[in-house]
Amino acid sequence: LLALTGLLGAWLANRLTAPLREIGLTARAVASGDLARRAPVTGHDEVGQLGQALNEVATRLGDDITRLQRLERVRSEFLGNVSHELRTPLAAIQGFIETLLDGAIDDPKVNRDFLARAFKQTGRLNALLTDLIEISRIESGELRLSPRYFDLTALVRTITDELRPLAEGRRVSLVVEPGPTVEALGDRDRLRQVLTNLVENAIKYNRDPGEVRLTTVQTPAGPEVRVADTGIGIAADELPRVFERFYRVDRSRSREVGGTGLGLAIVKHLVEAHGGTLIVESKPGVSSTFGFRLPAARLTA
Ligand code: ADP
Repeated sequence: LLALTGLLGAWLANRLTAPLREIGLTARAVASGDLARRAPVTGHDEVGQLGQALNEVATRLGDDITRLQRLERVRSEFLGNVSHELRTPLAAIQGFIETLLDGAIDDPKVNRDFLARAFKQTGRLNALLTDLIEISRIESGELRLSPRYFDLTALVRTITDELRPLAEGRRVSLVVEPGPTVEALGDRDRLRQVLTNLVENAIKYNRDPGEVRLTTVQTPAGPEVRVADTGIGIAADELPRVFERFYRVDRSRSREVGGTGLGLAIVKHLVEAHGGTLIVESKPGVSSTFGFRLPAARLTA
């Protein structure tokens, strides 16, 4: 009887310690970085629950690490893009100055031209730095909106008046569709920035001669602005990507028209910060329509 009790005791002890041993081994493996390792879970007793909890921790840890790795990849890709974008105009400026110093300064046929080109590149650097500061301010959560009721139709008119000289220079006519006044609730200055960006793009990526048509409507879902152009359009597979930082469909055209590749990324942030939705449609070679819809303002009595 004594021997039998001893054997039973040993069997029971083993039955209890074997899963615990497995859990211990798994915990050690996970701790040393093997996040794919899982403890075999048998039963719903305390030991089973312990195994399950350990497995959940390993899964969550794995997910967190994947997310951090993705963020790190995006961050270093962004830094790579930033340095490339800054280096290009800087290298051009350096090149022009070097050529001038090497003797071109005495050649009246080229010296003004070289200086003008270098000056243009400083403008590009400036625009890039302004957009970079803006995007980092937005992405670090520093952006504070000051929403108020304002006349969206009047804002559209102000922006078209401001951008008319740019449009005329490119033989693009700006047309504001007539319609009833549309009120909106939002940060007027930020939405002005959004609209300026969209109208500038509609002018820059248009034809010669071309047209930009602006429509403002109060839909049941909220106020909406659309900026439709008669431009080069964007292919369907590129359409969702144009809101990514530094993504350009045609890099040389963007550079030629003074683009930074950050405008639409800023637009997206600002519209989403308002709880709004972006509108984007395009027929390649025919037209593009960019716009946004703000949430319907809840009028308080
Ligand atoms: P960029 O400073 O290069 O204009 P954006 O972020 O404003 O950068 O736009 C990203 C890209 O999307 C542009 O380089 C251009 O290729 C494309 N794009 C933007 N707006 C239009 C438009 N209205 N028509 C055609 N292409 C456009």
